[in-house]
Amino acid sequence: MRLILLGPPGAGKGTQALRLVAKYGLVQLSTGDMLRAAVKAGTPIGRQVKEIMAGGGLCPDDIVVKIVADRIEQPDARKGFILDGFPRTVPQAQALDRMLKQRGIALDAVIELRVDEGALLKRIETRAAEMAARGEPLRADDNAEALRQRLEAYRAQTAPLIDYYRKQNVLRTVNGMAPIPEVTAAIDNALPPEPASLRAGAAGSKKNDHVSQ
Ligand code: ADP
Repeated sequence: MRLILLGPPGAGKGTQALRLVAKYGLVQLSTGDMLRAAVKAGTPIGRQVKEIMAGGGLCPDDIVVKIVADRIEQPDARKGFILDGFPRTVPQAQALDRMLKQRGIALDAVIELRVDEGALLKRIETRAAEMAARGEPLRADDNAEALRQRLEAYRAQTAPLIDYYRKQNVLRTVNGMAPIPEVTAAIDNALPPEPASLRAGAAGSKKNDHVSQ
C-alpha cells in the first residue's frame, strides 16, 4: 500500500502514520524527520536547510525530491510506504508522479486530514509542552512566528494538492478533529480494499478472481 497523508501542521499526520505503520507494516517516510536528522547531523543538506526550517518556510523542491527518491529505493520501502509531509508543493507532486511511474507503481490513496485552523495553534502548543515535559528538545519551529509561516506555506503551496489529487481520483478526506482512534477508524474505512498494484490485475489476488483478465 502506498499512501500520502496530507494536512496542515498539527493535523495529526505523524500520529496517524505511526498507527498505519503498526497496522499494515508500512514504512513511514517523513520528510520533516529526515530533514531534521540532516540538520542534527550537520550534513551539507542539513546546513543548507537549517535556517529555512527554523523559520517555518519550505525547503527547496530539488533537495526534498532527491531525499525521497533515495529513500523509496531502499528495500524496506518496497512493500509500501506512507509519505508524511511530502509532497508539499505541486512540483513535488509532479516529481513523485514521475518517480512512481518509472517504478510501475501507483498511489493507493491520499488521505486529507481536515482540521479547523483554530485548533492547530493549540495542538502545537500542547505538543511542545509534552515534549518539554518529557525532557525532549523543542523543535526549532515550534514557536508562534514559525507556526504562522508554516500555516502560510501550507495554505499557499500545499493546499492546492487537494485539488491535484482529487482530479487523480485518489483523494479521501477524513475529519481530523475527531478523537485519535476515530480518525484512525475513518482512515481505515477510506482505504481501498487492496493495493492499487493488485487492482491493476496482478496475479494472486483472490478478490479479483471474478474479474476477467
Ligand atoms: P509539520 O509538523 O509542520 O507538519 P514537518 O515535520 O512535516 O512539519 O516539517 C517541518 C519542516 O521541514 C517544514 O516546515 C519545512 O521547512 C521542512 N519540510 C518538510 N517536508 C518538506 C517538503 N516536502 N518540502 C519542503 N520542505 C519540507
